[in-house]
Amino acid sequence: MKVIRLRQGRERSLLRRHPWVFEGSIAKGRADAGETVRIEAHDGRFLAWGAYSPQSAIRVRAWSFDETEHIDAAFFARRVARSIALRERLGIVSDAWRLVHGEADGLPGLVVDRYADTLSAQFLFAGTERWKAAIADALLQATGLQRLYERSDVGVRKLEGLPEASGWLRGGGSTRIMIREHGWQLAVDVAGGHKTGTYLDQRDSRQAFVRWVRQLGCAEVLNAYSYTGGFTLAALAGGAAKVTSVDSSAPALAVATEHVGLNGFDATRHEAVDADVNTFLRASLEAGRCFDAIVLDPPKFAASTAQAERAARAYKDINRLALLALRPGGLLFTFSCSGGIGPELFQKIVAGAAADAGVDGAIVERLGAAPDHPATLVFPEGEYLKGLSIVRG
Ligand code: SAH
Repeated sequence: MKVIRLRQGRERSLLRRHPWVFEGSIAKGRADAGETVRIEAHDGRFLAWGAYSPQSAIRVRAWSFDETEHIDAAFFARRVARSIALRERLGIVSDAWRLVHGEADGLPGLVVDRYADTLSAQFLFAGTERWKAAIADALLQATGLQRLYERSDVGVRKLEGLPEASGWLRGGGSTRIMIREHGWQLAVDVAGGHKTGTYLDQRDSRQAFVRWVRQLGCAEVLNAYSYTGGFTLAALAGGAAKVTSVDSSAPALAVATEHVGLNGFDATRHEAVDADVNTFLRASLEAGRCFDAIVLDPPKFAASTAQAERAARAYKDINRLALLALRPGGLLFTFSCSGGIGPELFQKIVAGAAADAGVDGAIVERLGAAPDHPATLVFPEGEYLKGLSIVRG
């Protein structure tokens, strides 16, 4: 068994059960990619079992803080079973949910979403890559399903020295899957969709949007960064007379349009616009076009804290434009999924946007990822998605 010995004083985060060991904390020891290592404090005290990643700045990620635990196929089966048991208690009103949310589920670098009868997974670090077959078996065994698609086609794999990979890991067939969410039917493509197929993390916020649109009687709604129109369906379900979906992806808009018909809404109530949101908002303002509700759910503007400042300016800009394009009393549902921008900073950015726009707004609800994407007490980095529901003054 290879040992990773930490520098003096560097054991603190592992003692708090935070699972990451950075390169600079290690005094000595090395191992192969994904190999199980024993992590020790400078004085030889056991801290955790983990997996080594020779090329990553996060050099080791902990699997277990229990010295008696063996890291083998049975370990992964236990962790997967624990993740599933939590989801079963959450009362999720859908047949699609996140089964494994990485570090928060004690499975660092592993993301698994369930879409009806199909699993879609991302293996994001050397440790999960090494145990891929055992994890795949554990997932199918625990769910009783037969299909698992791999979506490890993400940039962060580069930091681990791993090539991008995608395709069926188990089973096969059509990659287009119909799921149900809040009684709607949605088409998800596990091969071509964003992330593992779609944005399950916004499930509860879509439901909240139905409620607010109905409560405030919003007639004209703009769904900016609509992707395949989840919030568009929410607006229609909430009784909006006219919904405009704006996205820069034509294929995503085509699915949004399909979703409107599939769920029995009159096509004349929906308009899909292939455009850059910033440009669309500026053009709307120039034309004097206003909305009763706007959803702003942009892609990740900051991949790291280093990019937070530039991202902050971009968030501020679109929020300012959106507030100006809202009628007084209108509703803004605004989000950031950048991990580098915390909830407090995000609120400050939106406040700055409101000040620049010369308007005020009442925060009527705080929004976040659905509970099948949990943040944990020891791993606050897991909280990436935050949102504000604001009624413009
Ligand atoms: N709200 C969606 C998820 C949005 S993801 C849901 O609930 O499913 C972000 C979307 O922004 C993606 O669909 C992407 O195509 C789109 N996008 C990225 N940059 C854009 C831009 N500059 N203008 C318009 N859309 C953009």
